[in-house]
Amino acid sequence: MNAEIIAVGSEMLTPERVDTNSLFLTGELNNLGIEVVEKHVVGDDRGRLTRTVRRALEHSRFVLISGGLGPTEDDVTRDAVASALWRKQIFHADISDAIEERFRRMKRVMPEINRRQAMVIDGAEVLSNDRGTAPGQWISAGDGVVVLLPGPPYELKSMFTRECLPRLRAMVPPMVIRTQVYRISGMSESDLDQTISPIYKVYENPATTVLAHNGDLQVHLRARCETESEALALLADVGGRIEAALGDKIYARDSSTLEEVVGRKLRERGETLSVAESATGGGLAERITTVAGSSSYFVGGFVTYAVRLKRELLGVPAETLEQFGPVSAETAAAMALGAREKTGSTWAVSITGNAGPTADEPGANGIGAPVGAVYIGIAGTKGTETHHRVWPSSDRPRVRAFAAQMALDMLNRAIG
Ligand code: ATP
Repeated sequence: MNAEIIAVGSEMLTPERVDTNSLFLTGELNNLGIEVVEKHVVGDDRGRLTRTVRRALEHSRFVLISGGLGPTEDDVTRDAVASALWRKQIFHADISDAIEERFRRMKRVMPEINRRQAMVIDGAEVLSNDRGTAPGQWISAGDGVVVLLPGPPYELKSMFTRECLPRLRAMVPPMVIRTQVYRISGMSESDLDQTISPIYKVYENPATTVLAHNGDLQVHLRARCETESEALALLADVGGRIEAALGDKIYARDSSTLEEVVGRKLRERGETLSVAESATGGGLAERITTVAGSSSYFVGGFVTYAVRLKRELLGVPAETLEQFGPVSAETAAAMALGAREKTGSTWAVSITGNAGPTADEPGANGIGAPVGAVYIGIAGTKGTETHHRVWPSSDRPRVRAFAAQMALDMLNRAIG
């Protein structure tokens, strides 16, 4: 079963506003086993909207329209849908009274133009709006259904959940949806897709989605079946193959973040953590401390941007800084060691790098760190290790986010 979504509003054809209602609606429709095959954004133009509605109804069983139900001249949805279906509109006095009452409760007088919101397309079922004035409409047209929903997301969500879900459920065969999430770090999105696409491409069910954000990757599997056991069996089959292909690149099999996974391990073992940051300027500590209860294992850290502070606060030897430069494996190792010694923590993680956008001036060693160069140091009970990467980006925020992600990933692996 197919659906199309039409977002109405000229503001969504400007760079300022984006249609988010269709994301919510798509998720809800997918849960019912209804596939969204096209989405449209149409300005406040009666003729264009009429044509778009007609075309959508020719191809899809469900056409959901959001916005344009307000009282003003540029709220064209009711008129356009009435034209598309060749139907007239009928004034409903009870809706007009209810809108008037709503205004009275807010100690205001209803403007005359709001009566337009009481116009209902012939044959439509009225959908109540418990969060605003514009009622929605549910219109059966031949085999198809056109649904009119208000634009404000807060109103649309409530109306869809209360009024549309029960109607849709009665029309589609019952489905059980089960999902499996994998969270992955330590590989690029393209490497991930190359590794697992031969597995998931074979299956339409479960549906697979790959999401990537600054080095943090997610794979979502979504199985839709008639029974729960069928859905779980599908997830176990495809999920098992994906797990085998990715091995230790998977850091969580639920929605836990990397900082939560690291935190859980440290808490279980009664171990502690400190950080020494240069390029990320506190971004790593920020991520670690977003986790509730992180005070039980995170002791604190150092933001040592200047070379002098790397020396004075962390005890990085002057010779190391001179010989190898502040952005080097040797400095990263010394920063981590220094943080561990100064704080007495079980683990210490350091980050030094060049977040860009321009390359560093060559230091005493004659070498300037290229943009995107990041060194991570990890000091623990078994010694110190360092890791190096040059991110292919001169976008400062991205390099910094990648660096913090890499540091957490390396720490997670080191903890084991
Ligand atoms: P109202 O009675 O409030 O006028 P309406 O149905 O006419 O409701 P619009 O005027 O089209 O709704 O939109 C009202 C506001 O809702 C917009 O300014 C915008 O902020 C938000 N909105 C509209 N459509 C969308 C959409 N598709 N996604 C996200 N927000 C939207």
